[in-house]
Amino acid sequence: MSEPTIKPKPLSRINLNDFDPDFHGNDDKQDVVAATDRLQEKMQALQNRLYAESKQSLLIVLQAMDTGGKDGAIRKVFEGVNPAGVYVKPFKAPTPDELAHDFLWRIHPHVPGKGYIGVFNRSHYEDVLVVRVNNLVPKEVWKRRYDHINNFERTLVDANVRILKFYLHISKAEQKKRLQERLDTPEKNWKFSPGDLPVREQWDAYMDAYAELLERCNTDYARWHIVPANCKWYRDWVITKAIVDTLEDMNPQYPPPAPGLDAIVIPD
Ligand code: ATP
Ligand code: MG
Repeated sequence: MSEPTIKPKPLSRINLNDFDPDFHGNDDKQDVVAATDRLQEKMQALQNRLYAESKQSLLIVLQAMDTGGKDGAIRKVFEGVNPAGVYVKPFKAPTPDELAHDFLWRIHPHVPGKGYIGVFNRSHYEDVLVVRVNNLVPKEVWKRRYDHINNFERTLVDANVRILKFYLHISKAEQKKRLQERLDTPEKNWKFSPGDLPVREQWDAYMDAYAELLERCNTDYARWHIVPANCKWYRDWVITKAIVDTLEDMNPQYPPPAPGLDAIVIPD
């Protein structure tokens, strides 16, 4: 199977036009879907070991434009994983209390503790995306955040948190198609938000903002993965593969049995 994901080299210049959102490898859909299913079985076993070991954790950050497929990917990639060991935290527009603090204040408490996988649906990266595009804070404030984010992520990595960051890359034309589907399909009407339209008009400014964070926050300890995401089954395989590869590399181990277990007799 072809290269699962496109990882920019640390601190390399990114032009998102160089990354094809339609890319879906050379394999048939049914083969890729079957491969994803096999990977999910591995993920279940690895997650079980991670939880039992309880010494390290995995933080998955998902970022995308509206309709980019964050929700769909979460639904597919984690199906079958023990829900007791995985949780999803969506980050919406900050509350007044959150705005009264530094931008990482609301993020830090949701970092997964030892044994857990945590998924951020949007994240601290909104503070160099929507905030930058809409001038919600002055430029001198958001400019400093790339370093703040890198330092924050370093802190987490030093505390045994592995970080995997995915940008789901869709085209503007694909977004139009997906927004239209939300208008046309009664079961999807609820997902249509008129507020997505002004954001769509800022597409180019968002691409610039993404390019800069993909460049500046792609550290060797917390790499970004640019996921071609127009094709949903390919997107799901790419993310599942990256997670399984990372969990295998983390190599969690069941703790050794407590001494004397073999001598214990369970009374009738
Ligand atoms: P859905 O796919 O269901 O639409 P979503 O992630 O787009 O999911 P919404 O409630 O539609 O969820 O959007 C959340 C909104 O919160 C986004 O517009 C996002 O830009 C905004 N947001 C997130 N973090 C911040 C932040 N730090 N500052 C300002 N706005 C933020
Ligand atoms: Mg939305």
